[in-house]
Amino acid sequence: MLEGASLRASHSVLLEPIRVGGVTLPNRLVMGSMHTNLEAHPERFAELGRFYAERARGGAGLIVTGGFAPNVAGRMHDGPCLFVSDEQAEAHRAIVDPVHAAGGRIILQILHAGRYGYHDAIVAPSPIRAPINRASPAALSTEEIEQTIRDYANTAALAVKAGYDGVEVMGSEGYLISEFLAPRTNKRDDAWGGSLENRGRFPIAVVKAVREALGDGPILSFRISALELVDDGLTDDEIVWLAGRIEEAGADCLSTGIGWHESTVPTIAGSVPHGAFADAARRIRQAVSIPVTASNRINLPDDAARIVAEGSADLVSMARPFLADAEFVNKVRDGKDDLINVCIACNQACLDHYFTGEVISCLVNPRAAREGAFTDEPAPAKKRIAVVGGGVAGIAAALEARRRGHHVTLYEAAPAIGGQFTLAGRIPGKEDYAIAVDHLARQLDEAGVEVVTGRHVDIDTLGRENFDEVVVATGIAPRAIGIPGADDPRVVGYTEILDGTATAGQRVVIIGGGGIGHDVALFLAHGEHEHAPTTDEFRRRWGIESEQVLPKASRSITMVKRSPGHFGRTLGKTTGWILRQELKDFGVRQIAEATYVGIDAQGLHIRVNGQDEVLAADTIVVCAGQESENALADVLTARGQSVHVIGGARLAGELDAKRAMHEGAILGNRM
Ligand code: NAP
Ligand code: SF4
Repeated sequence: MLEGASLRASHSVLLEPIRVGGVTLPNRLVMGSMHTNLEAHPERFAELGRFYAERARGGAGLIVTGGFAPNVAGRMHDGPCLFVSDEQAEAHRAIVDPVHAAGGRIILQILHAGRYGYHDAIVAPSPIRAPINRASPAALSTEEIEQTIRDYANTAALAVKAGYDGVEVMGSEGYLISEFLAPRTNKRDDAWGGSLENRGRFPIAVVKAVREALGDGPILSFRISALELVDDGLTDDEIVWLAGRIEEAGADCLSTGIGWHESTVPTIAGSVPHGAFADAARRIRQAVSIPVTASNRINLPDDAARIVAEGSADLVSMARPFLADAEFVNKVRDGKDDLINVCIACNQACLDHYFTGEVISCLVNPRAAREGAFTDEPAPAKKRIAVVGGGVAGIAAALEARRRGHHVTLYEAAPAIGGQFTLAGRIPGKEDYAIAVDHLARQLDEAGVEVVTGRHVDIDTLGRENFDEVVVATGIAPRAIGIPGADDPRVVGYTEILDGTATAGQRVVIIGGGGIGHDVALFLAHGEHEHAPTTDEFRRRWGIESEQVLPKASRSITMVKRSPGHFGRTLGKTTGWILRQELKDFGVRQIAEATYVGIDAQGLHIRVNGQDEVLAADTIVVCAGQESENALADVLTARGQSVHVIGGARLAGELDAKRAMHEGAILGNRM
């Protein structure tokens, strides 16, 4: 237990107040802008207000909303995610007032999506289609540009009317303002294109107009692209020039963004080292006298504190980590940073939801943006609850049930909790999963859940303890394959490879093309993976301001599956492309539509399009999915015990940590 813990000295730099424009922020930690998919639903603004208020109560120094468009053309989607009228200002009160009541500060992000909008009316400086959009934008006329500047100012004035503490002008990531600035997207030959001065005219005019609309008190933050990561974007020198002009135009702070959405370099995925882009923020900070905010892949207080302490930035913006833990700042303040629910950069419940139109949440924090679905009321009757299985489903159930006052015992057969999450933590780029498990273990301890590891509980143990309820979260067992010769000693399961009980040879064949097959291929291509890549290694790998140096695969790897179609179609929308690219660069061979004939001393025999082939292999790794492990539930039910089956034990198909944690949390909260 952490009783008596106090703020760690190295973190104190994060809790120093800072003046931004006319507002004093109590600390350096900003909840950055993130779309929730509630922005387009004014009737649900109360949910948004509750979501942000929770973060304000948790200590966020400043909150930035998801983007709202200043006009119809600037919307991200075909819905009403714009902010242009007094009536809407009234509706925004449902967002702002709860944050202020919770003692927080919130600014509205004004986002004109430019050619990234997904609707028919998109506009840009020039009619050039974005590689990530099917629709082509119309080029803005001079009159439309001038009207757009007035529209920004109008939305800023409405934001103040709604009670916001200021606004952030989104000027990075490839949206309209980036499109004006970059030669890549601005081919105009009038006063708004050509020279840097002309290309910079639009953002500078927007900032001046917004400043005028806001007056002196409210915050004017400008989100500036600190690193473009696209061809024909702004150079570093041009970015520094722009930073100075934006300061002169009246911005109170510069929040740094990294890369355009069409960049083919990872910027927020797990494979990006923590704080990898702090240098880009530092370059800007050295050129201006207003506060600068660093962002991207900063998910732990140690990294945030280092960035501020070494002078790379004055503030640190985190969006996803505030989804993962609303109490982030309070835990830092209380010296309980090892209780922080760690964002694992999976994007599965946040960005991937956003792109499918679902309201976002968080894999490791199912309460995020679902606050209303959970209660913090103590349970009317305190029960004795056993949770069998210490994977993430069981952990979530145990924490929520304990939160309501029940006595909870969590049993795990393995020597430590974590289950599949711990195995995932061995994959390059998923190192944060292991940190997350450590922090979950600390949360269980702090909450007072009794954790029993290394003990395989059976019905007799449970019966003796006389539990009121038993939660079976025993997870999954890897699926066995029915291929002749599968008992060959060269055939191993993915769990043995990842936990180190089996070692792969030089020629590896992987059976299965799902998420785990891809992960295992990456793990084995990297070789004995001992450390997460350093920032320098990462920059060289992706050719960021340096020549690209691709790593060599440490062994030859072939992936095989029976179904037709490309490999990797089931991977996450916003992260799958990175994994596919990495395996391609490692030269991993992929064979679809294979029939498995058998395994013998020569290797794996397959048939593809009527042709026989032998894949020579020293090791054949089975990544053929999973089956539920729920035998205990059947026995308990037969004895009349009240049983709840969750996670992989309930449904192994598409084994899914997001679903598992959600099921566990909901069940635990309703017990
Ligand atoms: P999966 O995605 O269901 O893939 C299982 C693979 O095994 C399939 O490619 C299937 O291919 C093959 N297979 C199934 N039954 C087989 C059999 N009897 N014999 C031989 N091959 C068989 O399962 P997974 O790879 O274990 O991943 C589980 C879940 O974890 C996924 O749904 C995903 O959500 C998640 N995950 C995602 C990621 C990521 O996105 N990066 C990483 C890890 C895990 P054929 O039927 O074509 O042969
Ligand atoms: Fe982070 Fe994943 Fe949660 Fe998104 S869903 S906030 S990436 S842990």
